[in-house]
Amino acid sequence: MRIAVYPGSFDPVTFAHLEIAARATRLFDRVVMAVFDRPQKHVLFSTEERLALLRVATADIPGVEAASYNTLTVEFARSLGAVALVRGLRTVNDFEAEYALAQLNQDLEPAIEVVLLMASRRYAHVSSSAVRELASLGRDPVEYVPPPVLAALRQKYAQRG
Ligand code: ADP
Repeated sequence: MRIAVYPGSFDPVTFAHLEIAARATRLFDRVVMAVFDRPQKHVLFSTEERLALLRVATADIPGVEAASYNTLTVEFARSLGAVALVRGLRTVNDFEAEYALAQLNQDLEPAIEVVLLMASRRYAHVSSSAVRELASLGRDPVEYVPPPVLAALRQKYAQRG
């Protein structure tokens, strides 16, 4: 059983994230999409909300599951017996940040490989921040997120007014 952890903020999860996870199941038996509980950046959805959305969004994708964690990513991965971390790459900007992160994680845990999957043409322009911005301006990002995420975005911005 080869397990990979796909860590992220997933604030909220998009079709781009889900596509990367689904593609990763070609390489791994189980892909655990893992919400980091304590991101440095400001988040719109709480950890519980991000995890709940990830759970429904991954329910129908064979081999993909959802979790959250509050330790170092490599420690969480090791606790699951994972052999790799999966991340997605869109742009050159992503590359710089992902490369630094991969080096850090490989210093921390050399036994865990970092696997970067290239964004697909279809979803390369999709980001959680774009989705939040569209929703905040009253436009449903229907092409970018599954229906439960749309509903959660609507509710969040309705609360905020
Ligand atoms: P972060 O984990 O940096 O806070 P996200 O939760 O948005 O950011 O993204 C998690 C991972 O998914 C990152 O590796 C990011 O590069 C990747 N990713 C995000 N959007 C896309 C996309 N449109 N195509 C491919 N990979 C993506």
